[in-house]
Amino acid sequence: MAYKHFDEYSIDVTDAIKNKFKSIIDDLGEDTAREGIVKTPERAAKAMQFLTQGYDMDPAEILKGAMFKEDYDDMVIVKDIELYSLCEHHMLPFFGKAHIAYIPNGHIVGLSKLPRIVDVFARRLQVQERLTHDILECINSTLKPKGVAVVIEASHMCMMMRGVQKQNSVTTTSGFRGQFEKIETRTEFLRLITSDLS
Ligand SMILES: [Zn+2]
Repeated sequence: MAYKHFDEYSIDVTDAIKNKFKSIIDDLGEDTAREGIVKTPERAAKAMQFLTQGYDMDPAEILKGAMFKEDYDDMVIVKDIELYSLCEHHMLPFFGKAHIAYIPNGHIVGLSKLPRIVDVFARRLQVQERLTHDILECINSTLKPKGVAVVIEASHMCMMMRGVQKQNSVTTTSGFRGQFEKIETRTEFLRLITSDLS
């Protein structure tokens, strides 16, 4: 049988959220019985559960499941990891890219696990600063590398669509541990994530 993907939602939670969305849409002045809107509360309830599914996942376990003994001790970089999250102040999206590097200390981790843990932390209500540190500390405490670095560049819909309405502003956050606290290592990392050849 060909691959099939099913999204699973709790009926009880979906119903509870659906009813609240219906009441919000009504309070906003829309007709909740209108054809295009009638199923919107349920769709929105499912979308919000999808976008916050990270609460039910343990990112440290994801990393531990793919750690391998290896003597390699140069910098490992995964850059341009797509990131979509919701700001906890307005519940509006912020999105952009994460760049992660670490220097192994006896263990490497399966490369696909780094984007996975970005998703786990991003699929919660977040602020970009905490998201950066969540990813950094998770890698630091689980993999115990000689150093770890995380840079996130993101655009925030709450700034672009409302408030100051600055369409082109990008917020950059970063965190460094271990060898990346040394200026040469940090500079090398920043050079590699901004070059096209790395
Ligand atoms: Zn916001």
